[in-house]
Amino acid sequence: MIRLHDKYFKPFLREAQILEAIDKIAHQIAEDYKDKVPVFVGVLNGAFMFVADFLKAYPHPCEVSFVRLSSYQGLTSTGIVESLLDIPEDVDGKSVIILEDVIDTGRTLKQLVHLFSNTNVKEFKIASLFYKPEVYNGEYTIDYVGLEIPDNFIVGYGLDYNELGRNLREIYQLNESHMINLVLFGKPGAGKGTQAGFLKEKYNLKHISTGDVFRYNMKNGTELGKLAKSYIDRGDLVPDEVTIDMLKDEVEKNPEAGGFIFDGFPRTAAQAEALDNFLESKDMQVDATIALEAEDDILVARLLERGKESGRSDDQDEDKIRNRFDEYNAKTAPLRAYYEKQGKFHSVNGIGEISEITERLGKVIDSLE
Ligand code: AMP
Repeated sequence: MIRLHDKYFKPFLREAQILEAIDKIAHQIAEDYKDKVPVFVGVLNGAFMFVADFLKAYPHPCEVSFVRLSSYQGLTSTGIVESLLDIPEDVDGKSVIILEDVIDTGRTLKQLVHLFSNTNVKEFKIASLFYKPEVYNGEYTIDYVGLEIPDNFIVGYGLDYNELGRNLREIYQLNESHMINLVLFGKPGAGKGTQAGFLKEKYNLKHISTGDVFRYNMKNGTELGKLAKSYIDRGDLVPDEVTIDMLKDEVEKNPEAGGFIFDGFPRTAAQAEALDNFLESKDMQVDATIALEAEDDILVARLLERGKESGRSDDQDEDKIRNRFDEYNAKTAPLRAYYEKQGKFHSVNGIGEISEITERLGKVIDSLE
């Protein structure tokens, strides 16, 4: 395991595997271009090592040049692709073969195609050392691929995490297993949001409250907000498809988080299963589900009190509050068994001083590792 900035990375591809993939591409291209003199155009910065080893493996006459593009910031593709070094001159009439280190969404590729569309190249082909078929949504075929890889964040062999890691001879992938992901469980008014506020600071976690995201969207009049409003006003649950997609988006938006506190999610069996599957696909997991326990009468009193200050439509009258408890008992309470089966369920007394309750939660979290 190695550390770059604040993240840990574990070995993924050995040098020999990388060189073997490069050899394969070099021989395929050599076969197709042995009678021509192609111009290989490396995409900086990431592809510099690939280009060097590729050229050593390429047995016929060829030219080489570079373009420089930048689309990554941190761990996630920003979607903004800048051209920092323009296309080489004198490519007209020549066969250009792009050498790219990795193709994921295809946004960089699109920009490259666009850059070269203003030239009169004879042929334009793409060779990529790594390719992530799961996330590729471009329309161009990739002519030569070294290795197909899953959608994990990788560094090494020219690829960086915030500029570190390019000099590594091997490819490493992000190790997420040191993350802590918590589900805060409990009825409305149990104090999940309040406690999440403290826990996120103490453990450096990202707090995702689905209720807050809905309220934010309602306040801003988005389509999602309009859709959720009628359910929320009645104290009903918003449909699973909507909530699950939204939750995934929120996680995707925070690739650099050291872990998550899920507050108010999952609330149904379908959501719990979707969360497990989604996290697994990212090499993550729920580490603990912690329930804040309190009696209904205490919760009703708390919520009515909160409703006076917050103005939340669903905190105003007892009928709506009781409806939310009914929803909880029918759909959410059964998740206790789901997490107990996984050995992840913990129960904490939610009555007392706020700081006392934070301490109780901290004890559970500290016992996890
Ligand atoms: P909360 O702030 O967590 O009490 O959520 C307020 C309201 O937002 C709930 O009563 C639901 O209508 C909706 N909501 C929040 N989270 C979910 C979820 N996981 N599934 C469905 N609806 C939700």
